[in-house]
Amino acid sequence: MTVETATFATAADLLDAVQPATGGREMLDPATGAVVGRAPEHTAADLEAAIAAARAAQPAWGALTHAERGAAMNSAADAIEANAEALAELLSREQGKPLNGPNARFEVGACSAWLRATASFELEPEVLFDDEGGRAELHYRPLGVVGAIGPWNWPMMIAVWQIAPSLRMGNTVVVKPSGNTPLSVLALAHVMNTALPADLLHVVAGRRDVGALLVEHPDIAKIMFTGSTGAGQKIIKDSADTVKRLTMELGGNDAGIVLPDVDAQAIAQDLFWGAFINTGQTCAALKRLYVHEDVYDDVCAALVEVARNVPMGVGLDENNVLGPLQNKSQYDIVANLVQAAKDSGARVLIGGDPDESAPGYFYPTTLVADIDNDNPLVAEEQFGPALPIIKYSNLDAVIEQANALDVGLGGSVWSADRDRAIEVASRIQSGTVWINKHGAVDPRMPFGGMKQSGFGLEFGVEGLKHLGAPQVINY
Ligand code: NAD
Repeated sequence: MTVETATFATAADLLDAVQPATGGREMLDPATGAVVGRAPEHTAADLEAAIAAARAAQPAWGALTHAERGAAMNSAADAIEANAEALAELLSREQGKPLNGPNARFEVGACSAWLRATASFELEPEVLFDDEGGRAELHYRPLGVVGAIGPWNWPMMIAVWQIAPSLRMGNTVVVKPSGNTPLSVLALAHVMNTALPADLLHVVAGRRDVGALLVEHPDIAKIMFTGSTGAGQKIIKDSADTVKRLTMELGGNDAGIVLPDVDAQAIAQDLFWGAFINTGQTCAALKRLYVHEDVYDDVCAALVEVARNVPMGVGLDENNVLGPLQNKSQYDIVANLVQAAKDSGARVLIGGDPDESAPGYFYPTTLVADIDNDNPLVAEEQFGPALPIIKYSNLDAVIEQANALDVGLGGSVWSADRDRAIEVASRIQSGTVWINKHGAVDPRMPFGGMKQSGFGLEFGVEGLKHLGAPQVINY
């Protein structure tokens, strides 16, 4: 397969390629309020056309070998790398996240890395038995057209998490990006499509009703959904009539448990970034920190020291590594939760005092101590730069508190004793438990939630299997 990789000079060139010639919805930079560009407002008819084209392209794509599909995916990764800086700039302006730190450049890098890793996994038919009675093999066939619905926090990376395994398994894809970050996803798909065969990958940037139509559509074989638990519940209901396969990556409220044997200084940086990556707007970020009373004051002091020195500001400024909240409603959620914590008498160690007169949805890095476990800042998903730190004395009781919520995406245990930490980890009800870190994902490591954080797995060979139709051949 020969592939031409177009190289775009700037984010403005990418915008020109994906904006409508006239009209569209103005997207504003959450850091400055400046116009980033105009997003197309695709309609139900656009969705029908995209699904029809994806459906027509699927049989030929599905008939290729894994190696052939993998080669095309690697070409798409090459195209992303050739356009990485322009993609990162557009992402930074539309989403708000800074270029540097674990942010826009990092996210674009993850897109190509995930494509390459997903292209490389081995998925041979499994021989279930082979004896005098006969032989049985388990194969995975393409499903057809996959609908991918994603959020605004990591819009490009999460789109690739949905697209890469879908393509690898011989499916074609129609993506419905979040209305808050459509340009980022359109630009990413545009770049990938300079390298992929025609019509494998479509983006329909309509309103929520377009998403609902995608979910109900009889020609969509599966929905990959990443977003809030509430929207997930609606999608589960809407998909019932067509008995769709679903992968649900939903909200979380991850607990971290710090055991009394830690060195507070040594873990403070990793604790901080576990909570504040992407300015806290991360599904599997540390959102409730439980610290043993013996080290409580030391951990609080060490975290304040880190927080004080991490610059927040406009994303295109190379110095910044924390940015604004992406949108006003998320800003209000964070501001209201911190206000409720203050009203309850909790102690704000740093932050909690936004400058309402400044432009942009900036909420300062906030640490809140001496807070009760049932305070809304602890019990609800804040999805922003405000971390509650709860003091505990009894390990069994704190594990019970960590498990008390109806979500279970990630969790972490912090200890100098790895075996002890692994034992505690085994008692936490979440899809991943990290030890002495939080939120690290890897394309080789299956990722998914327990309880109402969702079902189905992404990444690794297990993730591929969720994008295939299992078929047994028996003879
Ligand atoms: P959201 O649920 O509001 O929206 C997600 C996407 O779903 C958007 O594209 C939206 O337009 C679409 N949508 C909403 N209702 C729909 C419906 N009825 N039918 C079809 N589409 C619909 O979520 P958000 O605010 O964009 O993202 C934040 C949430 O996502 C947080 O709760 C976070 O924890 C979660 N999240 C989870 C993961 C994970 O992997 N588990 C990753 C990132 C974010």
